[in-house]
Amino acid sequence: MWVYTHRACLAHDPGPGHPECPPRLTALLEALRAGLPGLDWRQAPVASRGQLLRVHAPALLAQVLDARPAVPQRLDPDTVLGPGSGEAALRAAGAVVAAVDAVLGGDGGRAFCAVRPPGHHATADTAMGFCLFNNVAVGAAHALEAHGLARVAIVDFDVHHGNGTQAIFAADPRVLFLSSHQMPLYPGSGEACERGVGNLGNAPLPPGADGAAFRAAWRGQLLPRLHDFRPQLLLVSAGFDGHRRDPLAQLQLEAEDFAWLTCELVACARRHAGGRIVSSLEGGYDLQALGECTLAHVRALAA
Ligand SMILES: [Zn+2]
Repeated sequence: MWVYTHRACLAHDPGPGHPECPPRLTALLEALRAGLPGLDWRQAPVASRGQLLRVHAPALLAQVLDARPAVPQRLDPDTVLGPGSGEAALRAAGAVVAAVDAVLGGDGGRAFCAVRPPGHHATADTAMGFCLFNNVAVGAAHALEAHGLARVAIVDFDVHHGNGTQAIFAADPRVLFLSSHQMPLYPGSGEACERGVGNLGNAPLPPGADGAAFRAAWRGQLLPRLHDFRPQLLLVSAGFDGHRRDPLAQLQLEAEDFAWLTCELVACARRHAGGRIVSSLEGGYDLQALGECTLAHVRALAA
């Protein structure tokens, strides 16, 4: 079980009071190191421009990588680009690319990318919702283009809808995108009727929905789609802001609910994908809950 991270991911600083703060990553790394001493830690490399350009417009690369602001600049009301943000974004996307290479090069490995900024709101040309580059989308495109896979599934259980990932792959039947998320909530997309070319599965949950509702959505709607697709690789947008203590949303999930879904994903990966899963951190803004949930998720991935 590989864990990719890099200290540059701590240098992306959206400023005082911002929920997507460097201590998130510190808390999560401490929880993993204390709870799972056998993990194989790897340094996240930078993504190349060619890898990013598979899903992103040149103008977004110029904005994130070439502007090099001396002081933090707001790209939208939530999303900040500071002096350390460019390298952090390159390492976050590069972690997923390297993890894809690792699990596809081995025999059935799994990997977790402990990185920030998160990625699933970033569209082809727009950084938004705390996200600069769409890390998981860059990884999926790498699996398709560099490794020649024909079917890649992206599972997104962050409490917010992964609008960026959905938009990037909505017309690409090689990618199945499955998401549970609270609705109404930022960014507002993710209705069940959003189906792409038959390759999207959206299960919105109302505020206050608990673990039973979350599990029912996955068991009844989304996991059957995943099995039918027979993915050759699973990518996971692992956001833990559905936890009941999270300050940004109102779902009532517990760490055990994330562990349950992870076990289901491992079973699916074993059946169809040679056990191969790459999971990457998205949201999760209560530091204690984030540590507990990430530990539960990675423990289940490592099983
Ligand atoms: Zn989120």
